[in-house]
Amino acid sequence: MKIQREKMWEAVVQCDGKYDGSFYYAVKTTKIFCHPSCKSKTPKQENVEFFFDIEEALRKGYRPCKRCRPDLYRSYDPNQEVIKEVKKVLENEFDKPWTLYKLSERFGISSYHLQRLFKKKTGMSPKQYLIHIRIEQAKLLLLNGEKNNTDICFMVGFNDPSHYYNVFRKVTGLSPLAFKYRHS
Ligand SMILES: [Zn+2]
Repeated sequence: MKIQREKMWEAVVQCDGKYDGSFYYAVKTTKIFCHPSCKSKTPKQENVEFFFDIEEALRKGYRPCKRCRPDLYRSYDPNQEVIKEVKKVLENEFDKPWTLYKLSERFGISSYHLQRLFKKKTGMSPKQYLIHIRIEQAKLLLLNGEKNNTDICFMVGFNDPSHYYNVFRKVTGLSPLAFKYRHS
């Protein structure tokens, strides 16, 4: 999923490391490109161009910043790749009964390390991310209107309707049915 321009700009202004590796920003006036987290002076917004991969920036004649070294990123941070993979698994297999332990087994890293790394890169724990995906799926299914609430609960990976109901309410501020009526 690509992030929007405004979000990217926001990340640049805030030097937000959680987007490192998902995009780069280049400054037209200096011809240099950086990680969002780079601590160099924030450029003027109108001089900034965004790239999703390093090669593209290089092709356009930008040079990697000496300070944040986006060109070395891959060898610096294989962790980013792992987290991307973990996210992909949760996004594709959100209906499975994932636990931190099961995830860590699948990826061959300790639960402790996975939890910390995931949180550092995404701002959420794997469990929070999974819940986020499940609730987004539940919303789609609710609005689609073909399934009833109990079916949806199980389809998105909850195994207890009252738990589903509570989580949905906590995340969206509405019960599943109220959400459905408000948005249809
Ligand atoms: Zn930089």
